[in-house]
Amino acid sequence: MTDLSAEQIRHDVAGRVDQLGDRIVALAEVNSGSFNPDGVNRVGERLAGFVEDLNPDTIEIIPVEPTPVLGLDGIESQAEVGSALRAIKNADAPFRICLFGHLDTVFGIDHPFQSVAIDGNTFNGPGVADCKGGLIIATEILSQLGRASWADSIGWELLVVPDEEIGSFGSKVLLNEAATRANAGLGFEPALPSGGVAGARKGSVTGHLVVHGRASHVGRAHADGRSAILELSRLIIDLEALNSQDGVTVNCGRISGGGALNVVPDLAVGSFNMRVETPDDQAFVMDRFEEHVADSALDVELVWGSTRPPKVRTAELETMFTGLARSAHGLGLDLPIEDTGGCCDGNDLAAAGLPNIDSLGIRGGAIHSADEFAHIDSIPERVALVTELVRTMAS
Ligand SMILES: [Zn+2]
Repeated sequence: MTDLSAEQIRHDVAGRVDQLGDRIVALAEVNSGSFNPDGVNRVGERLAGFVEDLNPDTIEIIPVEPTPVLGLDGIESQAEVGSALRAIKNADAPFRICLFGHLDTVFGIDHPFQSVAIDGNTFNGPGVADCKGGLIIATEILSQLGRASWADSIGWELLVVPDEEIGSFGSKVLLNEAATRANAGLGFEPALPSGGVAGARKGSVTGHLVVHGRASHVGRAHADGRSAILELSRLIIDLEALNSQDGVTVNCGRISGGGALNVVPDLAVGSFNMRVETPDDQAFVMDRFEEHVADSALDVELVWGSTRPPKVRTAELETMFTGLARSAHGLGLDLPIEDTGGCCDGNDLAAAGLPNIDSLGIRGGAIHSADEFAHIDSIPERVALVTELVRTMAS
């Protein structure tokens, strides 16, 4: 066993960046859109191959529950998703970390963005930053930890879920379990564009309004009809007016309904995503939805979708940030901590009681677009940074 300094780890990993880049390509060249369970599972198998090399005590492929999806017709169905990968080592160690990330991407099987283009250190491909590059960084950190003289004093759980991009509906039970077992969480979502990590994250709430009106002939009996589209429009205007409240964002992102133009429409569906800064904001916005629905003259169903609670900067999280800043300083890195409106599994783990820094993955950008890129020369510094952070936290 050897005890490398953070600088030596950075140097050591730099010598293997090409091999690690090949591993990112191996994960990114397989489509793993959230609704492509076969592809997600193939990526999980490839990742499991890399994880086996770390000699975990257990390694499991765990099926998760399907995700409810509301159709344009207002009818809910269940979408199958892939399986999670979980590996555990030294579960009884005095200090235990949970490393987390996801197998899925936002790019479905029919999206044109399916392969990786390489230009020097820059990889352009689906999921190279979000978060397949981060998964390779996580396995490399575990490899470094395994070589340290203090390896036995650290327990780890690597949890990689199949459905993060669609709200981790089926994986919440695994995340909640992991939160109870660990002392600190390390997430491998991509670094922010500045190279920094996320501080507070807003919470996210998804909700759908399914408005039922009454159909009638426009020419013969317009007054007998009750337009679901008109009522949905009123509700959208009233609910988007909540944007005037501090800390609350309401967006109706999809509408559907109606049919023949000479019929008063008896169905309209509006789908909303809300972002909130505090649990109080979340309760406030959900209460307003309930009120408006109750007050409607028509029959309106309110269907709540995926929810992630806000992630706030607790004292425990600030302690982790202090440790991270110290590690970054030692490596000569500038690592800003920035609050963001985006959310991830780090929100759920924090709500379940696990303090965690969630954007320790690769430097890159343009995620969720066909311009997504990752800088593979950031791998050595990220591995060195997090390995050093773990060493400080454990001692
Ligand atoms: Zn992600």
